[in-house]
Amino acid sequence: MYYLRNIIQEHVLKIAIITTVKHNIGDDFVREGILYLLDSIKELSSVELIHKHIPISAVHGLEKIRSYRVSKALDPLARLLGSKNRVNNADVLIQSGAPVYWCHPDGPHCADNEWFDPLIRKRFLPDRRGRKFLNIAGGSCQRYHSDGSEIDSCPACSAYIREFFDACDLTILRDKLAQTMLKKAGREASVLPCTSIFARDRLGLNALNGEYIVLNFMENGGHFTFGQNIDANLWRSQFKQIAAVAKKHGRVIIACHTPDEENLASLLVPEYERFLVPDDHVEFMKFYSRAIFGIVNRVHAGFVMASFGKPVVVIGNDSRALMIENLNLPSIFVGDVEHIGVESIINKALSRVSSYSDEIEAIRSRAKSEYTLAIGNALEV
Ligand SMILES: [Zn+2]
Repeated sequence: MYYLRNIIQEHVLKIAIITTVKHNIGDDFVREGILYLLDSIKELSSVELIHKHIPISAVHGLEKIRSYRVSKALDPLARLLGSKNRVNNADVLIQSGAPVYWCHPDGPHCADNEWFDPLIRKRFLPDRRGRKFLNIAGGSCQRYHSDGSEIDSCPACSAYIREFFDACDLTILRDKLAQTMLKKAGREASVLPCTSIFARDRLGLNALNGEYIVLNFMENGGHFTFGQNIDANLWRSQFKQIAAVAKKHGRVIIACHTPDEENLASLLVPEYERFLVPDDHVEFMKFYSRAIFGIVNRVHAGFVMASFGKPVVVIGNDSRALMIENLNLPSIFVGDVEHIGVESIINKALSRVSSYSDEIEAIRSRAKSEYTLAIGNALEV
């Protein structure tokens, strides 16, 4: 406690963020939002990033390693040698965004994740010194219709979720299912909209006039299927219909978050323009600031457009897609597109083009107050 008060008074708050680096622009949006909130509370002296999929990236000089096998092999040696690293050097450590709770009967399980053991159990906790650890904007990644009961029959994930929660000075989750899973594990935390809605503030970007409709396509409607019976061919043909109907309302551009998505879009809907600037989240944000509305699989494409007052519909196949409901926007299970109908889906966004700006500003303002209050209390500033 004394340690933290002392360093806060000296205005040298060193932050380390457990995130991804040049891996997923969605993670970049979430992290920028967290930095905006922290900066509103306290001036930051330095921010260091740790690529959570490669835990050895915490060690200074080894951040270029991109192989998990190499990371895993080197990590015990780096600890034995006491190598200078971002976890032990931080005054405040932050777990930023991403799914943090997942549990599937045939795997995977969040208890087996790659980062918690080397970064938290083996580095942070044995050297705590009153330093703070915050888990901000983490969420669930279950089947779309999960009620969280997978946790009930998995003692390993249940114990891990408790251990992770107890290691943190503050946990704020980004979706209700994550909150349910935490509760089933015996702990409680609040839910606020994902911090990606504040990325635009961090980067000083304003909403611009709508020039085009943004669509985004992922195979099966998301990253994984988790054994759900999803008709990939049906979703492909439905996406083509969405593009054709959207075109009646304006210029259509397909946002592609990865080269693979761009390749897929070029095969599926070659007649439409595509947008991709690999690993450059700022360029994506500028692109999203000029949208009219969006229909997307990528939930963080949806969050960023929404943050600029552009209404979106997120179509997905896992529980992450549901977090858009925190912005009072619709989430649709990919398997329900047929019975809802393409025209109706487009109208859900189109009908709110002129009114959504006011709605999101009220949501952003309220969420900022709640985040800054909670984080300020946790950091004792
Ligand atoms: Zn599990």
